[in-house]
Amino acid sequence: MVEDKLRQSIKVFENSAEAICITDAHTQIIGINKAFTKITGYTAKEVMGKTPQLLKSGKHKSDFYEVMWNAILHFGHWEGEIWNRRQNGEIFLEWLHISVIRDEHNQITNYLGIFSDLTSRKQTEQRLAYLVHYDDLTGLPNRTLFYELANRALYYAQQHNELVAIMFLDLDGFKYVNDTWGHLTGDLLLKKVASRLTECLRKTDTIARLGGDDFAIVLENINNIKDVEIFAQNILKAMSLSAFKLNGQETFITMSIGISLYPNDGKEVDTLLKNADMAMYRAKENGKNNYQFYIARLNMLSHQRLILETKLRHALDREELVLYYQPQLHLTSGHIVGAEVLLRWQHPEMGLVLPYRFIPLAEETGLIVPIGEWVLQRTCLQYQRWREQGQALLRMSVNLSSRQFKQDNFIKRIGKIIDETCIDPTLLELELTESLLITDFDEVNHILHQLKEMGMQLAIDDFGTGYSSLSYLKRFPIDKLKIDQSFVRDVPNNKEDMSIIKAIIALARSLRLAVIAEGVETKSQQIFLKSLKCDEVQGYLIGRPMPEQEFIQMLNNSA
Ligand code: C2E
Ligand code: MG
Ligand code: MG
Repeated sequence: MVEDKLRQSIKVFENSAEAICITDAHTQIIGINKAFTKITGYTAKEVMGKTPQLLKSGKHKSDFYEVMWNAILHFGHWEGEIWNRRQNGEIFLEWLHISVIRDEHNQITNYLGIFSDLTSRKQTEQRLAYLVHYDDLTGLPNRTLFYELANRALYYAQQHNELVAIMFLDLDGFKYVNDTWGHLTGDLLLKKVASRLTECLRKTDTIARLGGDDFAIVLENINNIKDVEIFAQNILKAMSLSAFKLNGQETFITMSIGISLYPNDGKEVDTLLKNADMAMYRAKENGKNNYQFYIARLNMLSHQRLILETKLRHALDREELVLYYQPQLHLTSGHIVGAEVLLRWQHPEMGLVLPYRFIPLAEETGLIVPIGEWVLQRTCLQYQRWREQGQALLRMSVNLSSRQFKQDNFIKRIGKIIDETCIDPTLLELELTESLLITDFDEVNHILHQLKEMGMQLAIDDFGTGYSSLSYLKRFPIDKLKIDQSFVRDVPNNKEDMSIIKAIIALARSLRLAVIAEGVETKSQQIFLKSLKCDEVQGYLIGRPMPEQEFIQMLNNSA
């Protein structure tokens, strides 16, 4: 009898590490081995006569079992990963091999299942993945993850013209601790230092352990250098606040900190880290327990900046600022329905200066407030002139700096401009950045509602690069999302970017927001966006930012 033989074989496999389970043709269990009990928790008595469904975890849908059974009946066997449940309720992953046993008439007589427990292997894999990115001792991101996070911060800063500081921190006299009290105590100290450092951070900051007693910190969203200095002072203070208690020993420890700034001291994480490291050595030379900025370029740069700042201060009264207009195309109608107003600085010696060179400086110095107001006023005056000339009127999008937005009498000033120029406020769109929306919810919400009441349109610029959060989209009276050009750039080659675009458009749909994509340079990008029912596009394909005359000419030609 086949059955007897099978029972025999179970005895043979009694001590195998793999669990074995034999059923009859009706899948009722007729035999198991020790490993089965060890893995599932069920004894032979408890499972005899039952079916292996007893182990079902509920994690797989019915089609999973359908596929499995199809394979078993068609090919005589199936093999794969499956989630099952132990007697104690715990779900576990097993590698299962099922085969069919037939008699001489080709009738199925039994099923044979052999499986092993994969849970611990999966856990090992997860642990390995963790180790690739985190420092085992302190639980902080390691060098690899640090580069990734810092890169992201730089990218964001580049998009938003912000400063980033990279700090390189090194313990003073760590070798002494290690040599006197041994490595275990040294490790404990590193752990405690890591948590004290972490307490000094804001939510948006990143800290990592690079190795040994070297730590690094990324500070984002910096308004001025003074903030960085205060931060460094706080760290030094936190270190010296109290002694570190280490297995009965107590010790004070200090740090030397080197600081480099993006974009001044480098454009890449590597360079910035190297420069911060160099600055750290200067801190050591200076007697330790202090911080130093990377110097060579800083001095030169601050000098250059000073010159640029002086020039920029004159730009307004010398009437060197000009507005350029970039068309926005409505995809289904094929009409140009709007224009983004982009600032240029026409300097007698420097030539045409692009925003990335002076907007950050204007933000830092506060000059952006009068400049931004000038842009708004000029835009409205332009609109007035176009109306008088009988031009078709378009929606005008103006970029708004958060400093401008937070100016005390902002609403009053914008109201005055609208009144004086008689612009139809519904044709005025304000582009806001995501970073603005995450500060002072009530205040921001109040201002946005007032702007809406005045009839203006509100768009979120560079959407997807910042703190994109569903909650603010739901709560604020926003009309439109502008998909950042970084997502559009590599369409149709980058599938990930394409799914992000799809997701943003779906999100916008569900929240009843309009969507415009920026940076559209090719026909295939436009086709892709149209296929997703993106409302509008803006980019070199439709037209570059142009001075007034050229823009009007383009409008007339396209009409
Ligand atoms: P933004 O608001 O995201 O403006 C879009 C930028 O993308 C513009 O750069 C535009 O020239 C560029 N662009 C448009 N189409 C394409 C394309 O197809 N391919 C590529 N590669 N680029 C494209 P621009 O004019 O240099 O302005 C840069 C940033 O400066 C703006 O980004 C905005 O944040 C800021 N900015 C410009 N004017 C003002 C202003 O009046 N006030 C304020 N606060 N910020 C401004
Ligand atoms: Mg913009
Ligand atoms: Mg943008």
